[in-house]
Amino acid sequence: MSAGHTHWRDEVDQDLMHNSGERTALFTRGEGAYLWDAQGKRYLDFLGGIAVTSLGHSHPVFVEAVSRQAATLTQVSNYFVTPPQLELAATLKRLAGTGEAGRVYFGNSGAEANEAAFKLARLHGGADRPRILALEQSFHGRTMGTLALTGKPAMRTPFEPVPGGVEFLDSRIESLEAAMDDRVAALFLEPIKGEAGVLELPEGYLRAARELTQRHGALLIIDEIQTGAGRTGAWFAFQHEGIVPDAITVAKGIGNGFPIGALITFGSASSLFYPGTHGSTFGGNALATATASAVLAEIERAGLVEAAARTGEKLRAAIEAIGAPLVEGVRGRGLLLGIALTAPVATAVVTAALERGLVLNATGDSTIRIAPALTIGDVEIDEFITLFSASLTAVVETIEIQAEVSA
Ligand SMILES: *Cc1c(COP(=O)(O)O)cnc(C)c1O
Repeated sequence: MSAGHTHWRDEVDQDLMHNSGERTALFTRGEGAYLWDAQGKRYLDFLGGIAVTSLGHSHPVFVEAVSRQAATLTQVSNYFVTPPQLELAATLKRLAGTGEAGRVYFGNSGAEANEAAFKLARLHGGADRPRILALEQSFHGRTMGTLALTGKPAMRTPFEPVPGGVEFLDSRIESLEAAMDDRVAALFLEPIKGEAGVLELPEGYLRAARELTQRHGALLIIDEIQTGAGRTGAWFAFQHEGIVPDAITVAKGIGNGFPIGALITFGSASSLFYPGTHGSTFGGNALATATASAVLAEIERAGLVEAAARTGEKLRAAIEAIGAPLVEGVRGRGLLLGIALTAPVATAVVTAALERGLVLNATGDSTIRIAPALTIGDVEIDEFITLFSASLTAVVETIEIQAEVSA
């Protein structure tokens, strides 16, 4: 195992930018749904690098694809094209299954995919449509453009002014009806708000959004960065609703950890960009696209989209069965689940879980997010329930002790 780094917390403090919260572990190896730290302690990973490692860590198909393509061709710039780039574009269009003509733009992250989508919206809007609608509590990325689309004022405020014209709506259909007019260029939304705590949209929202944007000539742009690649039990979450958006953005789960993002347009939205309007040096390079193609092919071959739906239902039922006193309910779909707690102790639960060898994530005070590999089965579910229940019990005991002390 890796030598040194016994004082990794000090190294983090001194050498890494203080832009994120505390790093709570140093991991040295991963395999399937498991991670190991430098002491050889094993962890069950139910976060998956935040909905990224769809196939699990170090999956042989992933390893082979990266290795083979690295040994063949990595980067030629977008003055040229490579077979992997063409193959991935065709695959993404096929999996989106809209039946519309479509085009794909490749970037290197979710934020870059959404940045491209923002520019698409501006090209569509021009001077006549300065308005862009997005949802309160949404998350679309950390660049200046995607922050402008992100409905979390605390994230945005320190960096204002951000690009203008974006208005935030609550997630009621009536609010969208009231806001929509012919000066709207685009509506951005997440089918499930992942970062906000796995919040679902109201029943019928996507269909209403499609109908209203179509009626007013605005683009419907769906951020599938967290929900895509099979995670919710469909290749993309919009497919559950039987609608066809004008564009979707994908990243996270399509690369299994290899950085890649993409904007996929359908129908007339595919003709808005023209030469010189956007680009990226690395975007869509042969290494990234060959890897993502292999990841998607393996998800398809192994039936992991259906598996995510099935396993997700089992997992949800098992978590709901834990119930009182701390589990209030489960939100989400497939293997993107938010566990609502009855008390604001999510961080304490995450800490207790990590001590017991379980990786989770708190989104807010009272929600735990889980987004494990799509490959998990009964063994991992049983182990999760055991470790998670033990973590909850530990937190309940701490609360009781504190109550006794203060009584
Ligand atoms: C993670 C995420 C992003 C940003 O992706 P990055 O790769 O971190 O830039 C955007 N939208 C959603 C819904 C996400 O979950």
